[in-house]
Amino acid sequence: MSDIVVTPSVQIDSAESTATHCPYCALQCGIQLSGSREQIKLVGNKHFPVNKGSLCIKGWNASATLTHSERLLSPLIRSSNGELEPASWDDALAFVAQRFHVIQQQHGKDAVGMFGGGSLTNEKAYLLGKFARVALETSNVDYNGRFCMSSAATASQMAFGLDRGLPFPIEDIAYTDMVLLVGSNIAETMPPLLHYFGEQHRNGGQLILVDPRASLTSNQATLHLKLTPGTDAVLANGILHILIRDGLINHQYIDQRTEDFSRVKAVAATYWPERVERITGIPEALIVRVAHMLGRARSAMILTARGTEQQSQGVNNVLAYINIALALGLVGRPLSGYGCITGQGNGQGGREHGQKADQLPGYRKITDPGARQHIANVWGIPEQAIPLAGKSAYEMLDTAGKDGGIRALMVMGSNVVVSSPNASHIQERLKALDLLVVADFFLSETAQMADVVFPSAQWAEEEGTMTNLEGRVLKRERVLEPPLGVRTDYDLLCSLAACMGKGQFFTYADTQQIFDELRRASAGGIADYSGITYEKIEANQGVFWPCVAEDHAGTPRLFLDRFPTPSGRARFHAVQHRQPFEAPDTAYPLYLTTGRILAQYQSGTQTRRVPRLNEVASEPFVELHPSTAHRFMIAPGESVRLTTRRGSAVFTAKVTPSIREDTIFVPFHWGGEQSINRLTSPALDPISRMPEFKLCAVRIERCEVTMEA
Ligand code: SF4
Repeated sequence: MSDIVVTPSVQIDSAESTATHCPYCALQCGIQLSGSREQIKLVGNKHFPVNKGSLCIKGWNASATLTHSERLLSPLIRSSNGELEPASWDDALAFVAQRFHVIQQQHGKDAVGMFGGGSLTNEKAYLLGKFARVALETSNVDYNGRFCMSSAATASQMAFGLDRGLPFPIEDIAYTDMVLLVGSNIAETMPPLLHYFGEQHRNGGQLILVDPRASLTSNQATLHLKLTPGTDAVLANGILHILIRDGLINHQYIDQRTEDFSRVKAVAATYWPERVERITGIPEALIVRVAHMLGRARSAMILTARGTEQQSQGVNNVLAYINIALALGLVGRPLSGYGCITGQGNGQGGREHGQKADQLPGYRKITDPGARQHIANVWGIPEQAIPLAGKSAYEMLDTAGKDGGIRALMVMGSNVVVSSPNASHIQERLKALDLLVVADFFLSETAQMADVVFPSAQWAEEEGTMTNLEGRVLKRERVLEPPLGVRTDYDLLCSLAACMGKGQFFTYADTQQIFDELRRASAGGIADYSGITYEKIEANQGVFWPCVAEDHAGTPRLFLDRFPTPSGRARFHAVQHRQPFEAPDTAYPLYLTTGRILAQYQSGTQTRRVPRLNEVASEPFVELHPSTAHRFMIAPGESVRLTTRRGSAVFTAKVTPSIREDTIFVPFHWGGEQSINRLTSPALDPISRMPEFKLCAVRIERCEVTMEA
């Protein structure tokens, strides 16, 4: 057992409610919980400034997972008959510790990998990274945020020296003149966020959307640019070309606050409008109109999301859009700037505190000698004991069971069998492991393959902090006891470390002590949380990092005077368009793109178990244009087979003019035969190592499926 004391939970009753946050996306809407476990009442928290009481259908139904009949209530160990059988915590912990020990003795420390998630609290993400480096002494630790936000994070660091999704509070959106929103369908992924765009519209502002699909979000847009998938960098360079040509860039800002513009200017000169129209499919007149709207706005924001980021040139795409923001002098100016719409619940905090292969807490680089020494001092180990950078998420999974690769893997808060690209291949690799350990609250597709499963406490059963898409650090409250037999992941990591003889590095009386250590570890780093306390978060509806001292109020708006780069200036990066890894050809004539829908969330481990959400969206579909349907003789509602170079799968056709004729769309929330990620491409961005979920070449054909009565 660890030293974590299980503090009594606040037993909510109907007379009083507890303010906490939704377990799903990065908006982290405020909610109020009251009632008993059996009869939980959940409402939006109208006092929380981000959502002001609004919730989406996922949030309204979030309590359904707490009482679900399929919850795991005991550790499971795969027995000699191949079945997962209940086991005691002591037996399961001892078994895993012993197997890790033997595997590392035989194959070296790096033979054991850790895989985290963007939904884990900051404290868990921190503890997971520390567990990997101190208890396992492995370099192989990464997380599913690599699949989600890593290209925007990398580009922001390259351009600004710092990555915080939105460098301004979300409320600024309502007052800006112009928003260029790229590759996002917030009307389905974050509906309460749309209120701010509605307010912006009422205030006279305009929204320009860039997306190959029309969506509920494009209904609110003044202009919708339905570009050819994979051509974002061309479009962005083309817009910059016109801004320069027509004298709309901010020379004073470029001179005073940026560097390396001349090369970008030279590259933009080669993206003349006719060329851009030919590659992107966007008419020249529309590109000029967008450039003029942006260039003449008093204030403007450029916001990117997964559509442009989940590509093998995702970093380049984001840098190209950042170049526009810098050329217009938007970054650090009131009601203006560049931002990334982060996706997962703690996608922001999860990428700051050390569960990434190349990173130490506080957003420090693992290769930086000073950073290593600082963290070694906090952890009480020699600097040389901290391993160097390991492999990125997909690359680590791809080595599973191979010579020189990982032989054991522990997965916490992630369902990699559904969420990885080329998922059938990843499933085969996981089968080749000597040991797979999963911590989750349901038997996810990944947990079903495990040798050992630990049951995790859920969002309302443990406390901890989350950092939302604005960089606002929030407190999630523990309002219920975990069910009997269930423990928190904090307890799991500390207990396992103790079984491995490293318990002295993992002694915490409570979660707050983990956070206090995280604060010390982050002090002086880019994501500096040293001045943030639980009390301060509770008193202020969150605190924006960096917050460098307890009497510091936090930093809602970044880059006002300087950038955290050596020169204090933001950096332009010249970007040339590259072809996507797979372009359509005669064998695979269409683009396949994937994404989220309103009533499901990520790999669906939680939301597929919520009855109300399944009523709304019970299965995936393939969206295709009427002329595409005609071309391939497909009727609405028919079963069609999609085939890529990775495999094939069958989906129901949904025919709609909202999508381009050369593109089809499938949501990715389902597993098994319904998993579209069995078909997606494992091509990675060369810098961020983010997979190209957003496009690959695909064939579509009618299939004669015999439907069973
Ligand atoms: Fe939860 Fe996100 Fe929906 Fe808000 S928008 S209720 S945080 S899923």
